[in-house]
Amino acid sequence: MAILEVSDLKQYFYLQPTFLGKLVGGKKPRIIKAVDGMSFSMEPGEILGLAGESGCGKSTCCLAIAKLREPTGGAIRYKERNIAEMSKEEIRNYRSEVQLIFQDPYESLNPRYTVFDTVAEPLRALTDKNKTEVRDRALETIAMAGLQPEEYKNRYPHQMSGGERQRVGIAQALVLEPNLVIADEPLSMLDVSIRAGILDLIRDLSERMNFSCIYVSHDLSILSNISERLMIMYLGRIMELGVTKEVISEPLHPYAQALIAAVPIPDPAYQRPIPKIKGEVAQPIDPPPGCRFQTRCLQVMEICHDTEPPLKEVKPGHAVACHLY
Ligand code: SF4
Repeated sequence: MAILEVSDLKQYFYLQPTFLGKLVGGKKPRIIKAVDGMSFSMEPGEILGLAGESGCGKSTCCLAIAKLREPTGGAIRYKERNIAEMSKEEIRNYRSEVQLIFQDPYESLNPRYTVFDTVAEPLRALTDKNKTEVRDRALETIAMAGLQPEEYKNRYPHQMSGGERQRVGIAQALVLEPNLVIADEPLSMLDVSIRAGILDLIRDLSERMNFSCIYVSHDLSILSNISERLMIMYLGRIMELGVTKEVISEPLHPYAQALIAAVPIPDPAYQRPIPKIKGEVAQPIDPPPGCRFQTRCLQVMEICHDTEPPLKEVKPGHAVACHLY
């Protein structure tokens, strides 16, 4: 049984026209289609990598899955239950079973809370554990995140480094033993020197605690290291989805090919072919009909201008949204 099924997820935002805009362009609001028809599923214990450029809808998709934003359309099923139809009690359970690790450990921690209070808070809010059980579980989780409980439990966020703060954020997300963790670019605000340690920690804990994880990043070298399957997004839609090794070694979609060609290789003698891509990232405002990637694709065809390519399986377990296949 899939732990998570996302079907035709849509998240639109409506931009009301300015006074000048009304004069020249009418009164219709413009639509930002941040997520526009995403469908995928996840198995228990799986780490799914989610890649794409800034603004492609990765974080918006995650917020909808975490039920922090009501989607405009589509359905999100967790353990076969539509989260939009859950009762209050089910939502409470969902909030404890689905947790987020945030991008910015400087902003996501309450500056007035000690490490202990930060990690203990979800236990106090969402479980019936008594004081001793809360203390024991919080200290155990702080240690699991790689921090000595006695040394760190009374510290405040400003008394720690970025890496230590992110470990506290990870402990806070894992203290309730979630089934699904959404890690939204958890390394992007950290120094390069400590990224490997945090990445290893997330991978080790996912194996030990057997939670599923959506790992969001625009860094494909990180995703090739941690994820079993890789999903590549462009302007609110999935362009390619498959086993990470296969997508990295044989990308099918022109956008995936360009993204992978842009990953640096630590060999100055290696001459890599120039990525086949043109122009800048388009805006998700009132996207044109047809393929979202048409303005940057060097292999664009007539059909690409008016028919949106569906995401279809072209090899076992490997799907792509492109008219070339
Ligand atoms: Fe390029 Fe057409 Fe494929 Fe889009 S559908 S990526 S425009 S070839």
